Amino acid sequence: DPQLIKQIFPYLTDATTTVAHARRCGWLSAQQLGITMLSQARQAGVQLLRGRLTTVDCYGGRINGVTVDTKNGVTKISTPALVNAAGPFAPELAQLCGLNLPIVLEGHVKISFNDPRHAVPRDAPLVIWNDEVTLPWSEEERDALAESPETHRLLKPFDAGVHGRPEGAGDTVLLYWTYDASGGELVFPVPYDPNYPEITIRGMSAVIPRLTEYFDQMPRPYVDGGYYAKTRENRPLVGPLPIEGAYICGAFSGFGIMTAMAGGDLLAAHVTGAALPNYAPAFLLSRYDDPAYETLISTKSTSGQL
Ligand SMILES: Cc1cc2nc3c(=O)[nH]c(=O)nc-3n(C[C@H](O)[C@H](O)[C@H](O)COP(=O)(O)OP(=O)(O)OC[C@H]3O[C@@H](n4cnc5c(N)ncnc54)[C@H](O)[C@@H]3O)c2cc1C
Repeated sequence: DPQLIKQIFPYLTDATTTVAHARRCGWLSAQQLGITMLSQARQAGVQLLRGRLTTVDCYGGRINGVTVDTKNGVTKISTPALVNAAGPFAPELAQLCGLNLPIVLEGHVKISFNDPRHAVPRDAPLVIWNDEVTLPWSEEERDALAESPETHRLLKPFDAGVHGRPEGAGDTVLLYWTYDASGGELVFPVPYDPNYPEITIRGMSAVIPRLTEYFDQMPRPYVDGGYYAKTRENRPLVGPLPIEGAYICGAFSGFGIMTAMAGGDLLAAHVTGAALPNYAPAFLLSRYDDPAYETLISTKSTSGQL
């Protein structure tokens, strides 16, 4: 009902025909979540050694130990078990014991900027737009952009999925749009299209029209990002690897904060030999050995990724 949408979400474009409002959703600080989990792990007896794992002894087809470079020197640790939870570095770490993981990397960036006009209301939820967006330009701008093959692309529709939300107690707004996800090698900082900030603000203005108030003087957003580590079908890998004592807990793509606790629980059950939940097989590396699974994922049309 457009009237109801206008009443509850007055900042959305009049073109909005349907809203799915997930009422029990929200956001959290990933850093605080990490600190909370680390302090609970410490209370349970976990020791944290900061350093870089550089070699893995997997002589005899089993994990025997690892070498860690720390700022105080090189430490060797004898262990029968190793969990590869190295995020986008998981393929590199797996290579230390000769394993290839079916993980690809994808660079993603987000922007944050000051919104002193509160074009995005401070009490707005995370807003995700599920249609393609054609960027708004003035007639003059359109003519200029049409002239060059390099800028002509800016007149074409962009993929669905521009999203954003207010952040923190100040005026900050976060926007993301993965029209420009780049694959390949790990390079830091993550390379991105220099037009990404403006394209994203313009794209979101099609959803929240008051953002057009910034077109005359575009904010200078802070841009940062990282790499999604993903499997082909965008489903994580949690469980044993084909070397005794080696485990993987990774390929969490763009949802690894939301799924961190569930992934950790499942991994812990594998490592400790506890009873596994009935969904455990869905996350095993060995799922790719099943031809029916291969057929299933090759016919699936969408990963559902934002
Ligand atoms: C722009 C962006 C936005 C995102 N937004 C969201 C979101 O809104 N919600 C959500 O749920 N997820 C989001 N994600 C995804 C989420 O950040 C990841 O899925 C998650 O961080 C993966 O967790 P991880 O523990 O597997 O890997 P990481 O968080 O990458 O941790 C891996 C750790 O391993 C360490 N490491 C690597 N190699 C070695 C080595 N050789 N020795 C020692 N340590 C090593 C690294 O230093 C790092 O600390 C986003 C990601 C990006 C890039």
